[in-house]
Amino acid sequence: MIVVFPAENAPPKAACKLPSETSLILNRPSIIWRAIAFVAIVCLSLVVLDGWRSWSARSVQLAEMDVATSNLSQAMARQADDTFKEADTALLGIVERVQHDGTGPAALQRLHDVLVMHQQELPQLAGLFVYDESGIWIVNSTPTPLNRFNNSDREYFIFHRHNADPGPHIGVPVISRSSGKWVIPVSRRINKPDGSFGGVVLATVDIGFFEAFYNNLQIGNAGAVALVLNSGVMLIRRPFDVKAIGKDMRGTELYHYYTTRGPAGTAFIKSAQDGVTRLNNYRRLPDYPVFVAAALSKDEILHEWWRDTIWHSSGVLCLVIVVGLFGWHLIRQIELRTTAEAELTKTHASLEALNRTLERLAMQDGLTGLANRRQFDVALQNEFSRATRHASALALIMVDVDCFKQYNDIYGHAAGDNCLRTISHLIRDLTARRPGDLAARYGGEEIAVLLPNTDVFHAVEIADTIRSAIRGLEIEHSGNPTGFVTISAGVDAQIPIRGASEPTELILAADKALYEAKSTGRNRVLAARVARYDGTGQAQKTGHE
Ligand code: GH3
Ligand code: MG
Ligand code: MG
Repeated sequence: MIVVFPAENAPPKAACKLPSETSLILNRPSIIWRAIAFVAIVCLSLVVLDGWRSWSARSVQLAEMDVATSNLSQAMARQADDTFKEADTALLGIVERVQHDGTGPAALQRLHDVLVMHQQELPQLAGLFVYDESGIWIVNSTPTPLNRFNNSDREYFIFHRHNADPGPHIGVPVISRSSGKWVIPVSRRINKPDGSFGGVVLATVDIGFFEAFYNNLQIGNAGAVALVLNSGVMLIRRPFDVKAIGKDMRGTELYHYYTTRGPAGTAFIKSAQDGVTRLNNYRRLPDYPVFVAAALSKDEILHEWWRDTIWHSSGVLCLVIVVGLFGWHLIRQIELRTTAEAELTKTHASLEALNRTLERLAMQDGLTGLANRRQFDVALQNEFSRATRHASALALIMVDVDCFKQYNDIYGHAAGDNCLRTISHLIRDLTARRPGDLAARYGGEEIAVLLPNTDVFHAVEIADTIRSAIRGLEIEHSGNPTGFVTISAGVDAQIPIRGASEPTELILAADKALYEAKSTGRNRVLAARVARYDGTGQAQKTGHE
């Protein structure tokens, strides 16, 4: 409910101050945009935080798998190295024995026993063989009859015949002529006493031995492992495929990494065998020109992570939707509220304007535009109190138009109104010079002028200025002895004393002076109680004309 205050009871303006309509309208979009920005930032933060968390979890998962593949390849390298080392150690003993004991019947018989003993001790061996320089079998560890095969066509035999290096050689896989199984040949050269080629000793490592070991590794359904010669020939691979044995790996990405990035490393590689992308860890064997690769499928590595991420993302999505809906509702409420506030402010502003108009009308005289009697009474009371508090002089001039009844009678009531209006405007213009000065229509053709901080001398001066100005207008008035409209004025001023003075005293004194001005001839200004100021006790009178 809006209360229209009577002017004198109106609360101070600041107390009911609301933001102006303009500022609210200007602020409205900014509040809404801020709310939208807030909701957007919250949603974005949720998404970014979850994205960051998921990405960290992915990195952790990949790092763990990196370690796992590294451990795996290390174990494989160790196993392969040990396997070849055991076979090679046996070969070394046999070479020494052949070169020292020769290949006489007794020596060969002893050698056969040694070969059989080695094969029994080493489960990885498919067989042990000794060939002469023409590739004929001299002795072996298997029940296959001697002289049945000539192996001079084999890659390892040709290698040793043309290569004086006494070190071990791991050859390309072959199908054993004695057992029909895929084997990896590990061989050494036999030198005659003069250093010329004297034959080859061969240990064949059963590929099934590696296959059994690799099948026991925990590498998931899509994992893979491989054993490859440095020359790029595949020895064995899991998933096991007989077609992969002996395959040329030189064109593959794995081989490229191995040959260009050093003897050990990790890389995501798309398999040339089956097209699956895997995290590969490859490393060279410490003692032999062979490398191993252990690989876990990227999809399998990240499977758990994907599941976790989908759950999380769904949760975050739900949260974002809830926050978004709540934010939308909030923004809608802000919008409605700011609209209502703007309407309210607008209404308030128009009511205030209306109030001011009513206030002005209630305090203004309709005919003259001067303050009315009501405003005068309030102002007198206020100024009287102020003058009491500050011990300052308060002056009052009571103006009355001379012979105005006759003016009405002679020129008519409408002309009388006009005359009254002219006089009022003049008085207002002459007196409204300081904030506290007030000219009011006291009643009829009587006008009161209240002058705070003004002593009687100044008030008389002002009153006389008014009187002479009105006379100076030379408004014709045949009923006035001067022939023109004149006024008489009574003036009083006093410094009110708390508890001893009343505002009515001022009015009575000014009225009394006015009465004296009338009775002593009109068109004059008289002051009462000047004695208070000059200390003589005599009322000073100022007369004119
Ligand atoms: P004096 O010199 O003694 O003041 O004589 P006077 O005729 O002015 O005094 P009086 O009190 O007898 O008459 C006042 C007149 O003022 C009476 C009334 O017709 C006139 N009057 C009062 N109010 C108005 C007004 O609003 N308009 C007009 N036209 N005349 C008014
Ligand atoms: Mg009068
Ligand atoms: Mg009069």
